[in-house]
Amino acid sequence: MSKTKKERPPRQAMPEQPPEERIHNFNEVPLGYDEETARLEASRCLQCKKPQCVLGCPVAVQIPQFIALVAEGKFVEAAQKIKEDNVFPAICGRVCPQETQCEMKCVLGKKDDPVAVGRLERFVADYEREHGEVEAGEVAEPTGKKVAVIGSGPGGLACAADLAKLGHEVTIFELFHEPGGVLRYGIPPFRLPREVLDAEIDYVRNLGVEIRTSFVVGRTATLDELMEEHDAAFIASGAGLPRFLGIPGENLLGVYSANEFLTRVNLMHANEFPTYHTPVYCGDEVIVLGAGNVTMDSARTAKRLGAENVTVVYRRSRAEMPARAEEVHHAEDEGINFELLTTPVEFLGNEDGWLTGARCIRMELGEPDESGRRRPIPIEGSEFELPCDTAIIAIGTSAHPLIKDTTPDLGVNKWGYINADPETGATDKPGVFAGGDIVTGSATVIEAMGAGRRAAAAIHEYLTRQED
Ligand SMILES: Cc1cc2nc3c(=O)[nH]c(=O)nc-3n(C[C@H](O)[C@H](O)[C@H](O)COP(=O)(O)OP(=O)(O)OC[C@H]3O[C@@H](n4cnc5c(N)ncnc54)[C@H](O)[C@@H]3O)c2cc1C
Ligand code: SF4
Repeated sequence: MSKTKKERPPRQAMPEQPPEERIHNFNEVPLGYDEETARLEASRCLQCKKPQCVLGCPVAVQIPQFIALVAEGKFVEAAQKIKEDNVFPAICGRVCPQETQCEMKCVLGKKDDPVAVGRLERFVADYEREHGEVEAGEVAEPTGKKVAVIGSGPGGLACAADLAKLGHEVTIFELFHEPGGVLRYGIPPFRLPREVLDAEIDYVRNLGVEIRTSFVVGRTATLDELMEEHDAAFIASGAGLPRFLGIPGENLLGVYSANEFLTRVNLMHANEFPTYHTPVYCGDEVIVLGAGNVTMDSARTAKRLGAENVTVVYRRSRAEMPARAEEVHHAEDEGINFELLTTPVEFLGNEDGWLTGARCIRMELGEPDESGRRRPIPIEGSEFELPCDTAIIAIGTSAHPLIKDTTPDLGVNKWGYINADPETGATDKPGVFAGGDIVTGSATVIEAMGAGRRAAAAIHEYLTRQED
């Protein structure tokens, strides 16, 4: 019999590193549940016959089933249950926007707080890894077919894992010197510790997947050249080309794209300069432009690099901020300031070419635009100067044109994203499939993984059909 609200324990809080401590380190902020807390939280689940939470999950994880196992203390079995649908639960338990997916749909949320599905997912995946219980996935007999996967982000990794399990010989070609895509160069270690990411990538390698790093498709070899040696290809090259504001002064020293700033710190370890070779300049007065996860990650990273004041500047209001609620809350706790309904119109500099400030203008909200969010309109005569020595532009990214430009018959849309069937990932080019951000534009980790898995199934069918 289900518990009434009165009998049901409250949603279990997540212990965290205190803000005054964590702004001096890059260690993970949420500390994770212990066994007792996880079981208590799992006991809140109603085990619905028609679980709405599953409908909110892009890869349909069997949520009530895994939660029932947690409640029984069968943590390894719970992790295995999730892995039937999601190969990277330790990552997704940390970075998925559960509040707009499974947890938003959870029926408990109507009158009480929803079940903390993400925290439980993270707990069981960590338990399995920390207890050395991760089993190598089963791999089918070799098929003799070779598949090239371009990009080692969540889309490429998920596709490669499924194809390897089906017996295909898979090689991932990755531009950077380390695999992981945005999971490594974008999302900071205080949200996704590197030992967690490395363990998930090791799982893929242990399936027999080869990862060739520092390999730029379109430069080291073109897609067509790869296709001469492979039976099929999956493009998951992401959408990593930064967008800029297009305002005067954007070339001043001290103005970064979020992509460059985060890559220097997360991938190149610039925070450990000179132990590592790449430096990063981060002044005392930092402004970060935008309001998504990338904005919060950049602002919180700048704080950890020692900036005195970090201010997020956003042209709309709080209600329209696309970042996860948890990230905004963490940023606020860490002392990040917010200048809302404000946008820069010019960056100002000194005679040496260094940034000294941003001329900004206040905005008000008009009617909704094509994104459904209310359109920001400048308020005449409201300009003011915001002093700053570092500005990080985090207003979005788009598709890098390299693969498209070196593959003449690959169809793309007007924004440069690859045309691909949403169900199979099939492109206009025979044997070439695509998925993740390079098809949809910047989206989420789980959506890229879902696309990778759907494409793996379609590639398998394509390769099997070739044999008939
Ligand atoms: C800072 C930041 C924070 C984010 N936070 C979250 C979050 O909290 N939750 C969430 O769900 N999503 C988040 N996202 C979005 C999410 O990370 C992406 O949607 C997801 O990583 C897309 O996966 P992908 O596999 O399509 O591409 P990517 O992760 O972008 O991986 C693409 C890979 O392809 C490689 N590549 C590109 N071109 C080539 C080439 N020519 N040759 C070889 N390799 C190439 C790139 O180097 C990269 O490694 C965040 C994004 C950023 C930037
Ligand atoms: S909707 Fe909520 S209560 Fe129902 S099965 Fe899913 S997590 Fe449990």
